[in-house]
Amino acid sequence: MAVRQFYEAAAYDPAWPASHWAGTTPLPGHPPLAGEARAGVAVIGAGYAGLNAALALAREHGADVAVLEAAQPGWGASGRNGGFCCLGGAKLDDAAIVARHGVQGARDWRGYQLRAIAHVAGLLEAEGIDARQGPPGEALLAHSPAAYAALQASAEAEAALHGTAPRLVAAGAMAEQGLAGPGFHGAALGAEGFALDPMRYVQGLARAAGAAGARIWGQSPVTRLEPVAGGWRLTTPGGSLIAARVLIAGNGYTPEDLQPWLAGRTLPVFSAILVTRPLTEAERAAQGFTSPLMSYDSRQLLHYFRHLPDGRFLFGMRGGLSARPRAEAETLARLRRHFEALFPAWRDAQTETSWSGLACLTGSLAPFVGPSPARPACSRPLAGMATALPPPRLAGPRRRGWSRGRRPPCPRF
Ligand SMILES: Cc1cc2nc3c(=O)[nH]c(=O)nc-3n(C[C@H](O)[C@H](O)[C@H](O)COP(=O)(O)OP(=O)(O)OC[C@H]3O[C@@H](n4cnc5c(N)ncnc54)[C@H](O)[C@@H]3O)c2cc1C
Repeated sequence: MAVRQFYEAAAYDPAWPASHWAGTTPLPGHPPLAGEARAGVAVIGAGYAGLNAALALAREHGADVAVLEAAQPGWGASGRNGGFCCLGGAKLDDAAIVARHGVQGARDWRGYQLRAIAHVAGLLEAEGIDARQGPPGEALLAHSPAAYAALQASAEAEAALHGTAPRLVAAGAMAEQGLAGPGFHGAALGAEGFALDPMRYVQGLARAAGAAGARIWGQSPVTRLEPVAGGWRLTTPGGSLIAARVLIAGNGYTPEDLQPWLAGRTLPVFSAILVTRPLTEAERAAQGFTSPLMSYDSRQLLHYFRHLPDGRFLFGMRGGLSARPRAEAETLARLRRHFEALFPAWRDAQTETSWSGLACLTGSLAPFVGPSPARPACSRPLAGMATALPPPRLAGPRRRGWSRGRRPPCPRF
């Protein structure tokens, strides 16, 4: 059964160009679901969200978990991102969060993000996942003198709100910090976060979830999700799974029509990355951009970049609006032009790999974690979960009108 997706079919095709990371850590080969199976909890999507949930459910709550992944673990955004494990979980600044949720809400959100970073660091350590890259901290680079003035003002506001502020670097001191470039006019250096190899992290997670007892099926797109006696039926091309509870963790790859309430609620957006050949030390010095920090600039649709441990340079920015081959080629050409404009000394460092992937926005510009808005009464927590941290529940408006169809029956679990 064909599902309705936001972009052209190519964007969801397991053959869609893979990332640099897949070249160094190939995707695993979990077999597809074949025939009928049952589980206590079904998880749709094997990215960070689905696999972290599967691991916690299996290990900490003793749940019988099964993960269904359309391609392979890490095929989605989790295995094709920039590897910045950092603050910035919402597309809202502090002022907007304070206006919406109050001072305490903004502090809670900051604490939640810091715990998320610590959670990832702890997982890498505890599971022996060799994915850490580079020192802690990040550099936010002002793209104009006015943007640097704004960084100074926001550093003061940050100190007042959170009690800590980034270290400011004026334009004249950028070269000694190894942050020189024609497009950079000062910086704010934050101490939080660290860079990682996203594919190693997601595959380490899949191994840990599997070791904790979660079953993972690859090449198993869920094309239909319907309530049945005892829970839900998840239909895939090779078979179906009946589960008492379902967690949808498909992010920007989730079909629009998987559940009526999902349609029009999220906006998948392309982001694109290129990785160059290894740069020599002389080349790095010639550009003056030698800092090992994860870096991004202050443009609204930002550029993000960092040196990789093997000398290659990763450069990313917003992607295109279509998955058609011509549009994708134009996106990757534009990406290269921006890279050369910001790092002119590296014009001769050819691109080795470039790719796109889908990140996901909501209308509220903040993440949504929680029970289905259409079925709150059906979303009771598992035993022991009530003590867990309440997640931010910031549902966004739908992109189109809300359909007021008959409310589907509430399955008994
Ligand atoms: C190019 C790029 C760069 C990025 N850089 C960064 C960064 O540096 N730092 C950062 O914090 N964030 C970054 N992001 C965002 C980050 O990668 C995502 O927020 C994160 O990976 C989302 O994880 P997830 O588990 O929610 O979704 P995903 O990793 O996208 O996983 C969803 C999975 O669900 C599967 N799926 C969907 N529907 C179905 C279905 N019906 N049946 C079965 N399986 C299904 C998909 O195949 C996919 O594998 C970037 C994103 C992109 C695209």
